[in-house]
Amino acid sequence: MTCTPVRLPAGGTAIICTTTRRCKCGRRATLLCDWKVPTKKSGTCDAPICARCTTSPAPDKDLCPKHAAEFKTWKAARA
Ligand SMILES: [Zn+2]
Ligand SMILES: [Zn+2]
Repeated sequence: MTCTPVRLPAGGTAIICTTTRRCKCGRRATLLCDWKVPTKKSGTCDAPICARCTTSPAPDKDLCPKHAAEFKTWKAARA
């Protein structure tokens, strides 16, 4: 959990607390893996990924490196 003071446009500050999720490479993760994982509560992998490490198979979809590899295999099997 990280708490950051944020300056409000109307004046004053607010403290925004977020769980900082880091990509495996150490950069701040701004994306989550959308690979379907039925055993997960959320239904998706949700691995934190940064903009550099993502693989986007479709607009608004992101895959972690592990699932990007699985996606490749899956695509190759269908081709
Ligand atoms: Zn990364
Ligand atoms: Zn994943």
